[in-house]
Amino acid sequence: MIDQSVIEKVLDTADIVEVVSDFVTLRKRGANYVGLCPFHNEKTPSFSVSPSRGICHCFSCGKGGNVIHFLMEQEQLTFVEAIEWLGKKYGIPIPHKDMTEQERSTQSLRESLYTVNNFALDFFKKNLPGSIALRYLRSRGLQDSIIEKFCLGFSPESSHALADAALKAGYNKDYLVQTGVCMERDDHTLYDRYRGRVIYPVFSLAGKVAAFGGRIMQSDAKAAKYVNSPESLIYSKRRELYGLFQARQAISKEDCCYLVEGYMDVISMHQSGVENVVASSGTSLTTEQIRLIRRFTKNITVLYDGDSAGIKASLRGIDMLLAEGMNVKVLLLPDGEDPDSYAQKNGAAAFQEYLGKHQTNFIRFKTDLLLKEANGDISQKANLIKDIVNSIAVIEDAITRSVYIKDCSARLDVAESLLIQEVNKLRHHAIMQQRVERMEEQNSQSMQEKVEVEDNEQDSVEQLRNQVRQLLHGKMAGIIAKERTLMCLLVRYGDKVMCQTNYNGQNDYELKVGEFIIDSLNMDQLELLHPVYKTILDLFKDHYKEQDFVSERFFMSYPDDVVNKTAVDLMQDKYQHDNSTNAQNTDNLMELSQYVVNDYKYSIVQHWLKEIIKQLEDTTLSDQEIVSLQERYRGLLDVRNQLTKLLGNRVINL
Ligand SMILES: [Zn+2]
Repeated sequence: MIDQSVIEKVLDTADIVEVVSDFVTLRKRGANYVGLCPFHNEKTPSFSVSPSRGICHCFSCGKGGNVIHFLMEQEQLTFVEAIEWLGKKYGIPIPHKDMTEQERSTQSLRESLYTVNNFALDFFKKNLPGSIALRYLRSRGLQDSIIEKFCLGFSPESSHALADAALKAGYNKDYLVQTGVCMERDDHTLYDRYRGRVIYPVFSLAGKVAAFGGRIMQSDAKAAKYVNSPESLIYSKRRELYGLFQARQAISKEDCCYLVEGYMDVISMHQSGVENVVASSGTSLTTEQIRLIRRFTKNITVLYDGDSAGIKASLRGIDMLLAEGMNVKVLLLPDGEDPDSYAQKNGAAAFQEYLGKHQTNFIRFKTDLLLKEANGDISQKANLIKDIVNSIAVIEDAITRSVYIKDCSARLDVAESLLIQEVNKLRHHAIMQQRVERMEEQNSQSMQEKVEVEDNEQDSVEQLRNQVRQLLHGKMAGIIAKERTLMCLLVRYGDKVMCQTNYNGQNDYELKVGEFIIDSLNMDQLELLHPVYKTILDLFKDHYKEQDFVSERFFMSYPDDVVNKTAVDLMQDKYQHDNSTNAQNTDNLMELSQYVVNDYKYSIVQHWLKEIIKQLEDTTLSDQEIVSLQERYRGLLDVRNQLTKLLGNRVINL
């Protein structure tokens, strides 16, 4: 958690035009700047930056926000990482508050391990020029620029070159062992884990060196082909994907990710101009890795070597991709080729063309593969159908499932109804199993609380999004739209004085817009439905009495990116033109506030009226129930009439 005052300082210091200019060429237009949107492909600029308000916005794809949101989107950083990025750029130290002693020592241990890895990376890179490793990499067709881009290096043949250099530079022996760059003998001397190997550093999403992979160069050696970092505080194999750091922007932009097997495949593809590619580096794909990819895209294409005996074994991993809601395609390379060799042999253009032409959707790929294998054998065909049904059943989206079922029914020559029946059976079973697992999970959660903090946050944000999505599309959508307007008013003008009035026995009290909103809701015991708006209103209640409270500034810098992102959204769009209206004028603010509140209440009354009509259709109601519903209906009609009068036929654009 970062202190709000620090976030305010960062926002005050950071120049949004300067930051955006690091990534986009901007031209001045009036008070604002415009450029080509970095978040979607376009030919005419629709990306606008307002230096006075400190926000940017794309009028085509709608992305943008303040400078922190821009960085989160552009560099695919978390909220905290974006603030750290800005802190670094503008020389503002970013202290993290609320850390326990334990957290602080864990944090500093993590930092120490990263420092050791940084030292090792420098060491490996320094040893590359003139080495056999460089000759090896060049012989495999890599250009120097790509070697540089992936920070490839060399660990010298001597068994203690790195250990000596690191100890001499004052690095702690424990940390050298914990990151795994060195290992310890029984006599407590150190030796290098990767000696004599080409080094492929593995970067975390934030660009830190989390681990190394070391590859031998002789193809006939007895030693293992690859040696990798052990698991440590900063490296979990399950949570890293090789190349994601270098690929994340391309994945976002192309809205698709290629999945390959090895380091060299990733690097070769980059050299061929295909940058949206990651490798699971030999391990079978994990749920954590899939979720990492899903942060950037839902579309994944798995590349298979032409002669891969492992295709069948890896099919299960693909079911996991489907279960996580990914759209999966498969691409089979010609016999005997892997992405690296194919790209080397045929060149970049041919490789890209091949990628474009030969992708098939996964279910079809699997069906054809298994059909070919069964070769007309009836008993095998039954198994095959079961197998395909298994894959289809894990897909969450009902429409996608039905499309696949149709396709398979034709290909397998099996009745569609039978496939549907089998899929449903499996899904029912899986749902029951999930429920049991979830209960068990909840029980064991207290045991391992902190382990998955980041994932849980991700999940709770995802849950919130789903909740909001349902609200926006449900029957309450009309009310939510009015709540939004109400919140626009609160975030923008909450701290402004609306009028002078007698209030709580005080004459000439300067009533603020926010207070008026709170009181109006309390009066009718109304609660906001939208969970984020509700949070914003609660935050306002807790803080508006503080000295120097400025609503807009407070929410924009609030250290929770769901809240501050929503606040920026509320400040944007239809408010764009408000410089020309004189809403700052107190008379106008009062009129505006009353209108917005009444309009909101009107939408609620409308909703209740409709609900009562629906309830009255129930034929099992007793006479008494009917009478009381009718009374309530008449009461609401009165309220609606009053509100209609108050609202008049004014149309206020918000
Ligand atoms: Zn855009």
